[in-house]
Amino acid sequence: MKRGIQIVDVSHDLGLDEYEAHASLARAVQELRAEAATLVPALAGRRVWMVNSTPQGGGVAEMLPRLVSLLRELGVPAEWAVIGTGEQRFFDLTKRLHNLIHGTGTPGFSTADRELYERVNRDNADDLARRLAPGDLLVIHDPQPMALGALLAERLRLPALWRCHIGLDRENAATASAWDFLAPYAGGYDHAVFSAPEYVRAFPPHRAAVIHPALDPLSDKNRLLSPVRLTGVLANACLVRHHEQVLTPPFADTVERLAPDGRFVPAEQAEPIGILYRPLVTQISRWDRLKGWLPLLAGFAHLKRGETALARAGGGPDPLHDRRRRIVRLVLAGPDPASIQDDPEGREVLDALRAAYQELPADLQRDVAILSLPMSSRRQNALIVNALQRASTVVVQNSIEEGFGLTVAEAMWKRAAVVGSRACGIRQQIRDGVDGRLIADPSDPATVADCLDEVLAHPRERATWGRNAERRAHDAFLVFTQIAQWLRLLVRVVEARPEA
Ligand code: UDP
Repeated sequence: MKRGIQIVDVSHDLGLDEYEAHASLARAVQELRAEAATLVPALAGRRVWMVNSTPQGGGVAEMLPRLVSLLRELGVPAEWAVIGTGEQRFFDLTKRLHNLIHGTGTPGFSTADRELYERVNRDNADDLARRLAPGDLLVIHDPQPMALGALLAERLRLPALWRCHIGLDRENAATASAWDFLAPYAGGYDHAVFSAPEYVRAFPPHRAAVIHPALDPLSDKNRLLSPVRLTGVLANACLVRHHEQVLTPPFADTVERLAPDGRFVPAEQAEPIGILYRPLVTQISRWDRLKGWLPLLAGFAHLKRGETALARAGGGPDPLHDRRRRIVRLVLAGPDPASIQDDPEGREVLDALRAAYQELPADLQRDVAILSLPMSSRRQNALIVNALQRASTVVVQNSIEEGFGLTVAEAMWKRAAVVGSRACGIRQQIRDGVDGRLIADPSDPATVADCLDEVLAHPRERATWGRNAERRAHDAFLVFTQIAQWLRLLVRVVEARPEA
């Protein structure tokens, strides 16, 4: 990876007028405009710098483009900067830090760890400093660049906020060690923002706020796809074989599917998955152990073998359910592992999943599609994710821990039946039995299987949960709510230190 700061180009393709033109979004946009009109003058003359550690992959990179472009439209100049280093060890270290914040891994950091962390942050801070002007506002995302923000805030006397997208709702030796490591940098910040009240650490309550992540309803990831567009995307990605003409040519990079011999092969060379025809249970995430891939795969195998409470009790009220259980398939999709810069564990997790897949009998292997989604085009990747979520009967997020889980909000917005774990981030979104279902223990395959079977067996309830989920996503997880919260906070920080 390149050293130093990279400024990500954020194109202004969609404006608030386009959002407002949609009946379902109009009120939310009008409220945002009205509130912004009162807040933005207080930020006059300042540029807001969003800083994180990767231009693509994961929830933060997902949200930043729209946040930046809508802030600009509302009159707040904003930029997105990504830190970089040639030292892979830095990302190994920050990945460990990330896992520790989620409560897993071996606690403890050496002097060399801190030296490496601070050196990369210092180099990037020097680079970014050249682009900053007096009064600019820093919004630093996640632990990787946290030291950079503290350094620049002190050196240039700039107001700075730390946006932490991860967290755990309990403490253990792992979390204590991560927060000890980060504590020296907290003092440099005016304020911190967390995704749930349970996550607030290292900052006193009067310097900490809660803002839920949010989605962009008109992005390629979330906008409505007509049946012909949806089929076209699946055809272009080579996820379905098409027997008719489609408008657009195949994507430059298409989806690959794990074959029984353990290699990824172009999905169209593998056996058809049955998308658009069969009921699908789908999880789309990064290849991270905490996403609960292995127990989900094992749980699905239980389900297919009829090893569930419902099957033992005779199958439930829906006469179609036995057949549904026979033909349902599992899709496990994640980014092409070669493309993720700050996720050194990705390959390991995928290797473990590959091994588990290879141990399945041939008929079950046919019923499980492990997909590597191309990341070379963010747009095409987003369209593929969108189409897969919309083509699924159930969207799962079986995370062992989850900071928030944008994939959940994305599926809710699409009116999917969502099944999540009880990880803190997911409980902020799904109310069990109202907007979807929560799996009591995501690491236990039998529990996962029982929950999936129940949800598949109840089509009416699925439709009700989907409707409720869409309304909840509209009310709480759209980008407009989030921007209003950011504006309020930025103004509060600036007004608290008029000298900066
Ligand atoms: N995602 C994607 N392509 C993939 C896998 C994931 O675009 O191949 C997106 C997914 O749709 C979601 C984001 O990456 O928008 C993941 O965010 P989330 O909050 O669920 O988890 P994180 O990766 O931040 O832990």
